Amino acid sequence: MDLYSGYINKLVEELAALPGIGNKSAQRLAFHLINMPEDKVKRLTQTIADAKANVRYCSECYTLTDQEICPVCANEKRDHATIMVVENTRDLAAYEKTGKYQGVYHVLHGAISPMIGIGPGEIKIKELVERCAREDVHEVILATNSSLEGETTAMYISKLLKPAGIRVTRIASGVPVGGDLEYIDEVTLGRALDGRVEL
Ligand code: ZN
Repeated sequence: MDLYSGYINKLVEELAALPGIGNKSAQRLAFHLINMPEDKVKRLTQTIADAKANVRYCSECYTLTDQEICPVCANEKRDHATIMVVENTRDLAAYEKTGKYQGVYHVLHGAISPMIGIGPGEIKIKELVERCAREDVHEVILATNSSLEGETTAMYISKLLKPAGIRVTRIASGVPVGGDLEYIDEVTLGRALDGRVEL
């Protein structure tokens, strides 16, 4: 028996499918949305649609951006010969917050995970290899997470780039195992960067 209207059930279902939102939170959000003034709801749906329509991949580093080239890649003061490889745009933002990194990035949009069917072809590894062949790259810093997936991805990339004579380093551990980079404080991230090791 449906306790709510079909519309609310559908809304709860959609919200509960979002990451980190359980069924209880989805219900709370659904009722909150229903009780919001109409203009606020319109603004929210429009904001979501605009973000989806206008955000794209930077043509150099594949981070999410509003422009053809993201602000980091467009900045001539950055060291374009040093590329830090991260799993997602949130990790990039975490490193930018440390203010310690002057190079550029490459965003993979995931990590290799055979368990859930994500192979090297599903993330932006080919694009990284092509970029390294095209540009004068001195160092690639692998800053994927210290989870099994992150380590597997780092090893895979290292094996592809090292034969090409590119210096490949890995951020120091000390970043908690399985820890999402975005939740680690700036000091710890800065230290992980300083203490990076040669692969
Ligand atoms: Zn970029």
